[in-house]
Amino acid sequence: MILILTANVDEQSAEYRQLLAQLAALEGIQTRVHVERGAQQKLTEIYLIGNTKALDAAEMKSLPCVERVVRVSEEYRILGRHKDEQRPTHFDYNGVRFGQDTLNVFAGLCAVDNAEHVEIMMKAVRDNGQKCTRMGAYKPRTSPYAFQGHGKNCLNYVFELAGKYDIKVIAMEITHESHLNEIKEALHQTGNPTGVMLQIGTRNTQNFELLKIVGRQTELPVLLKRGFGITLDESLNAAEYLASEGNRNVVFGLRGMKTNMGDPHRNMVDFAHVPVVKRLTRMPVCIDPSHSVGSRAASPDGILDTMHVTAQGVLAGANMVLVDFHPMPPKALVDGPQAMLLKELPYFLEDVQIAREAYLQRVALRARQES
Ligand code: PEP
Ligand code: MN
Repeated sequence: MILILTANVDEQSAEYRQLLAQLAALEGIQTRVHVERGAQQKLTEIYLIGNTKALDAAEMKSLPCVERVVRVSEEYRILGRHKDEQRPTHFDYNGVRFGQDTLNVFAGLCAVDNAEHVEIMMKAVRDNGQKCTRMGAYKPRTSPYAFQGHGKNCLNYVFELAGKYDIKVIAMEITHESHLNEIKEALHQTGNPTGVMLQIGTRNTQNFELLKIVGRQTELPVLLKRGFGITLDESLNAAEYLASEGNRNVVFGLRGMKTNMGDPHRNMVDFAHVPVVKRLTRMPVCIDPSHSVGSRAASPDGILDTMHVTAQGVLAGANMVLVDFHPMPPKALVDGPQAMLLKELPYFLEDVQIAREAYLQRVALRARQES
């Protein structure tokens, strides 16, 4: 059960102390306080853990400082959707809104190779009216002999260039606690010219110790990719690890599942799960057409498979698109063959817009049918 307190509750007030005292007196119930500080107000929620079935919701609502009571099912306690749910399905980070009602495109380099390519990419992103990009610095690779990413050596110039081109959020994978510290340090050193959305890759979805470390910090939001060989439920629980440690600013990423049933695509595209994740949780949902499809194959209509699956995901309500582009794909150090070309960026964005408008029309149609 979650008690949502009135906004800006004062922890020193007599009412708040009385509330805590009354909760402490409940037998077999533990409490966990979560405070969320927004730009305008401070929101406090108290999680009641234990045998909450015996608690009377109306009685709990009558306690001092309590504005609302939400009964949670066991699943995805914090990030899940529950009965009488009115908690938000969005968050704001560095001036960008990430919600189940918005759409952000993160077109960028799979892996940073050099400053020149980073700059060309960021300029293209800015010139096409976008505020977000992807830039991999730490690359988990199948072969130990493959390029592993420039790591912290590229962070300063990546962040400075992002500032130059007014990029607000960069999605960047980390695989170790030290990477988190290096990113924070580089952001600090360069004067926070941009923001970073930490990416937990599909190979680390169930790296619970990493999830706990990333979840314990709330400065940077997280894109958690679905594990490519585990159930959706297991991946959603992985996201819940982040939230249970304190970070609720989580986007859930679909990137295809490992099975040869999806051949000739690199992974079996799973974007049919976009509405499923939105129904089960309050997380915005990202799709990654590049790592799902893994090639530049096109259908007889001339449209790339990556573009087709992007449209399918957006048409189903996706909230974020993470996609590999490269100024010179043959020269890319990682995933060149699946990258889109810079000249395709305006066309890609227009294609995404067509699908987004169609999705919004579908939502409006459904609303008309209901009324
Ligand atoms: C990536 O986005 O660069 C990546 C490696 O993705 P995934 O973890 O989904 O394979
Ligand atoms: Mn890649």
